[in-house]
Amino acid sequence: MKILKSLVPVLVIALLLPFGQPLANETLKLQKVATDVYAIVGELGDRTAKNLGNNATFGFVITTEGVVLIDSGGTYQGARKIDRLIKRVTDKPVVKVINTGGQDHRWLGNGYFKKQGAQIIASEAAVKDQKARTRDQFIRLGNLVGDLAIKETDAVYAEKTFKENFSFKSGDTIFELNHSGQAHTPGDCFVWLPQKKIMFTGDIVYVERMLGIGTQSNSKSWISVFQTMAAYQPQHLIPGHGHATDLEQAKRDTYDYLVFLRSSVSDFMENGGDISAIGDVKQTRFNYLMNYPEIAGRNAQQVFTEMEWE
Ligand SMILES: [Zn+2]
Repeated sequence: MKILKSLVPVLVIALLLPFGQPLANETLKLQKVATDVYAIVGELGDRTAKNLGNNATFGFVITTEGVVLIDSGGTYQGARKIDRLIKRVTDKPVVKVINTGGQDHRWLGNGYFKKQGAQIIASEAAVKDQKARTRDQFIRLGNLVGDLAIKETDAVYAEKTFKENFSFKSGDTIFELNHSGQAHTPGDCFVWLPQKKIMFTGDIVYVERMLGIGTQSNSKSWISVFQTMAAYQPQHLIPGHGHATDLEQAKRDTYDYLVFLRSSVSDFMENGGDISAIGDVKQTRFNYLMNYPEIAGRNAQQVFTEMEWE
């Protein structure tokens, strides 16, 4: 009896571990936004073998016809992780996948969901961008996540494309897709749920971490795309990076930063600044954003290059 009693705490711990441990190691988190609408929040840092390239935020909507997923994840195995998370709240299959842009984590999980029978939708510009950068994305991803994590990942492009606007109904839920120009990537689009006043922005909005301006971006057009999106006045916003939030935080962490950086770089150029001294452009106002030390200087450099041609 005495032995049994002393075993009880051990047994309790043993029972808890299988459930407690994976949760503690979870790299993707489910965030409920509204009835039948969820964000899947990935890590804010870079792609790793552990996060399987899912270093971004995804989302999904449960409809009577099935699940509509916004962005398929960074790898085939990353997509399977996303699917498992969806299965925690519904047993309905993913019937449609929207790729909101051309960056790897928006579309490299397509193959997994296509195999399950889902239709893939993206803007024409996004597919064009994906095709142009497939090779580079695979090389870079392979270097960061390793061969094991990238296994089974194939380049699978959307079969349903649209130029600027496309809307569809899944069950009773209306989805409105809008590609109004280049932002973080050439084909970025946002997804609006008019009945719920909820917006999925893909890489048009970053919160909590500093956004990245690369050679595939256009900071000037990004500002106007943000304005087009913001005019919808969403009550909830699921960004491309960071937790589901509101328009106010999206404006502070993305729009205000883009406007600030462009005006700072413009002042720097007007004062005869040379690109080799681009580090002089002060961005400490935004040092609260994660990845600031790694990204701030590169962003200024890219905006400088962009503005030379404007
Ligand atoms: Zn991204």
